[in-house]
Amino acid sequence: MESLTNRKQVVSDKPMTFLEKLYLPAIWGGMFITLKHIFKKNHTIKYPEEQRVFAPVYRGMHVLKRDEEGRENCTACGLCAVACPAEAITMVAEERKKGEEHLYREEKYAASYEINMLRCIFCGLCEEACPKEAVFLTDRIVPTEFDRNDFIYDKSVLVEPIDDPIDITKRQNTGKRGVI
Ligand code: SF4
Ligand code: SF4
Repeated sequence: MESLTNRKQVVSDKPMTFLEKLYLPAIWGGMFITLKHIFKKNHTIKYPEEQRVFAPVYRGMHVLKRDEEGRENCTACGLCAVACPAEAITMVAEERKKGEEHLYREEKYAASYEINMLRCIFCGLCEEACPKEAVFLTDRIVPTEFDRNDFIYDKSVLVEPIDDPIDITKRQNTGKRGVI
């Protein structure tokens, strides 16, 4: 059969020579490679003390946005959930009641909205699919957790606080697909 990479090696079980049986040349060879790397530029960083600058198109933790009057944009249409290749999004839709106009922008809203961050691959397709400018990925990192259940983010985590809006202008200015 034709080889794809030309990296195939024929395995040999020939007996070891005296030098090979000593193992020392192989150990010195390994040490030499290690020493060579000590003087090379280090490509790793001491996270979290040091942090790299993220690209403007970095896709991190989601936010559910509110409008300028503080009402939730999401109408629980379900398009983000349908677009999600990881099936990470679930929601329950409810009709807005009289007197709730200051809470939800349209007649329908998400009574519950959850994203399973262990499933999410941060592809951004939910953001692309949303017709209401409701869900966005941000440059915030998803924190580590000890319990798997803590990675299921509900509205208490996802909806932006009224008094502390999450800035998404960087993503909007660079384009959702990262075209500047
Ligand atoms: S970023 Fe991608 S994988 Fe994550 S919730 Fe959105 S559509 Fe699903
Ligand atoms: S976030 Fe957008 S796409 Fe998803 S349910 Fe809400 S309005 Fe629909």
